[in-house]
Amino acid sequence: MIALSHVSKVHLGGVTALSDVSLEIGRGEMVAIAGPSGSGKSTMLNIIGTLDRATSGTVEIDGYDLATLPDNRLSALRGTRIGFVFQQFHLAANVPVLDNVADGLLYSGLPPAGRRRLARAALERVGLGHRLDHEPHELSGGERQRVAVARAVAGDPPLLLADEPTGALDSVSGAGVMELLRGLHAAGTTVLVITHDREIAATLPRQVRMRDGRIVA
Ligand code: ADP
Ligand code: MG
Repeated sequence: MIALSHVSKVHLGGVTALSDVSLEIGRGEMVAIAGPSGSGKSTMLNIIGTLDRATSGTVEIDGYDLATLPDNRLSALRGTRIGFVFQQFHLAANVPVLDNVADGLLYSGLPPAGRRRLARAALERVGLGHRLDHEPHELSGGERQRVAVARAVAGDPPLLLADEPTGALDSVSGAGVMELLRGLHAAGTTVLVITHDREIAATLPRQVRMRDGRIVA
């Protein structure tokens, strides 16, 4: 599903965030990405998620060499094959959760009614079928992150990327979100989770540890 080969990233301003990273992740794996703040975790996830481009090295996602794809093909790959969950939820304010999730399916090519049908099903799967008309500010942090997970997976992407998905949640809500991610993994989705919570990392089947832009374990 993911093959990084000798990937480096120098950000604007000259910060080397990734140095010669090579990593393969198979279809259906669930992997924790751990390491201290500033070690390059988000940079690596953003490159895998096609949100950012590597400075050197090769990145293959689901069989595509990203360097060979023009921006429109990259956007289509991102929109249809990759789901994202972020620490701060990134839901649209003052928009009912059903529409927040349905709007994540714009790339699916489905008509609005079809998008809303998939969105409703995804919200039911994360236990929020009774909150479809609520706006994000009417939900708890844990519920907001469940909406974000529903949005990420409504189109059934084979790859789910989560950057500190429990970082803004209390431990009980965080455990609930991790259970959702585990369920997606059990159903066949490839799941990468950045966390600096060692307890959470220890519960996942594979752990990749980073430091100073390198994989150290
Ligand atoms: P982590 O997610 O492990 O905390 P990041 O990948 O966010 O680490 O950051 C790695 C390094 O790259 C840090 O030194 C950070 O300041 C730098 N960095 C991250 N994003 C950018 C950016 N967009 N522009 C410049 N420097 C960045
Ligand atoms: Mg980060």
